[in-house]
Amino acid sequence: MILVIGAGVAGLSCALGVADAGGEVTLIRPDSAYGSTRLAQGGIASAIATGDSPAAHLADTVAAGHGLVDAVAARQLVEDGVQAVRALIRAGMPVDRDTAGHPLLGLEAAHGRPRIIHCGGDRSGAVLHDHLLAQIDDGITVREGVSADSLLLRGGRVTGVRLTDGTTLSATAVVLATGGYAALYPSSSNDPTTRGQGIALAARAGAVIADMEFVQFHPTVIDAPTPGHRGYLVSEAVRGAGAVLLDSSGHRFMSDHDPRAELAPRDVVSASIDAVLRERGDAHVFLDATRVPDLATRFPQITSATRALGLDWTVDAIPVAPAAHYTMGGVATDLDGRTSVPGLFAVGEVASTGVHGSNRLASNSLLEGLVFGRRAGRAACGTWTYRGAALPELIRTADTLTVSPQLTTDERAISSAIGEHLGIVRDASGIASAARTCSFHKGNSALVGTLIAAAAAARTESRGAHRRSDHPGTDPKQARRTALTVKEITAC
Ligand SMILES: Cc1cc2nc3c(=O)[nH]c(=O)nc-3n(C[C@H](O)[C@H](O)[C@H](O)COP(=O)(O)OP(=O)(O)OC[C@H]3O[C@@H](n4cnc5c(N)ncnc54)[C@H](O)[C@@H]3O)c2cc1C
Repeated sequence: MILVIGAGVAGLSCALGVADAGGEVTLIRPDSAYGSTRLAQGGIASAIATGDSPAAHLADTVAAGHGLVDAVAARQLVEDGVQAVRALIRAGMPVDRDTAGHPLLGLEAAHGRPRIIHCGGDRSGAVLHDHLLAQIDDGITVREGVSADSLLLRGGRVTGVRLTDGTTLSATAVVLATGGYAALYPSSSNDPTTRGQGIALAARAGAVIADMEFVQFHPTVIDAPTPGHRGYLVSEAVRGAGAVLLDSSGHRFMSDHDPRAELAPRDVVSASIDAVLRERGDAHVFLDATRVPDLATRFPQITSATRALGLDWTVDAIPVAPAAHYTMGGVATDLDGRTSVPGLFAVGEVASTGVHGSNRLASNSLLEGLVFGRRAGRAACGTWTYRGAALPELIRTADTLTVSPQLTTDERAISSAIGEHLGIVRDASGIASAARTCSFHKGNSALVGTLIAAAAAARTESRGAHRRSDHPGTDPKQARRTALTVKEITAC
């Protein structure tokens, strides 16, 4: 039996991949509302248009990733991605269409052309999730209302999972599809539960964890208190449709920082906003979408969310600031989701396939869940073929980490240290301070914080989403991914 942990786009695609391959699968789903998939707005990138090509999509993905994209993995993503998106459309997923019936394609930052399919305007994630859930039939066992607490290991191989209700489940393979760790940051667009639990589980089992220093901050998260302690994101597609960013004096500052202005890659736009906020001592800048044609009908979900916050973006610019949004780091895998630990797979945001390098290209992550989820599902039904060298070229800079967390757990203290010292701009003393705070605590969040800090300390340069004020330049010698394993964990 294959055990899939997590039911976002990656977990559902994986479970369907196992079922397609004739395998027996159980899906663990803590709660229908959790995770990032349902929150996705902009859509799914793929080269389905006439005149577009996987090669062009690959070139944009590689450019956005600043020298660290694993080109083999990314080629797999964009090539399989065309088939995956065509399959969704063929299977009747209700994508938005033009009057001639062709799928409408959105433009997002750092894409050379419009190639983002979307659904319900800005409800792409929820529509995709419902579409995948509808395919989960009786052949797939679903356990709801429980989470994975730890992995069971025998002879260095993962053999099952202990659940939070105290029961255990044995499996021939376990697939982690538990999402990323952006909600460890106090200001985040993610569901508060998205705190890297799967990464902590895999790290404790001895898996190689890669690229943890790369955390993507979305430039435009509304700076107003929202229900559920989650920052409300305004999709990049809104800037793609013509919205502009203004500082508190009304100046359109992005063209001072990058010729692509508001459509520069996310890391550039977020770092530019951060610089403006520091310089002016402001808490937010403004997103002016008032000149976007048909704003309310094109972006109905964002329109009602802004109204609920007492804002009318059809008339006024709205306050926005960057917030942690997507995490490139995760459990290192090969092209079929295999990790370095036999019996353990990882897919979706919890994984680090190398397709995003140091900065993910917008709308490539739902695609990653679809493509690598299916691949891992099929591979999990086969024999375990990973022999170490099959993992993509990983740097072994950082090495084995010894972690000895203490006996308290204060999630707020951990988050505040991560937010303060491991944010958009870092330096050595801040990174060390975050590492120290995490070392005073036990639990998954402290362990993941320790991994972010260790990777951030090892990368003494600025690249993509990792910017250091004490190492502002990019060092060509560090054009390598970062890999860590945890050696010793006590009281954790
Ligand atoms: C506001 C927002 C907008 C976005 N917009 C886009 C977009 O337009 N296009 C795009 O490509 N990407 C977008 N993204 C990113 C994208 O949504 C995510 O990267 C993607 O959905 C991750 O899918 P996943 O299946 O890996 O994880 P998730 O969808 O986060 O699912 C993780 C699952 O694991 C479960 N889980 C976690 N821990 C455990 C545990 N211990 N035991 C059992 N289960 C567990 C969760 O409950 C959940 O079911 C957006 C993200 C956000 C937050």
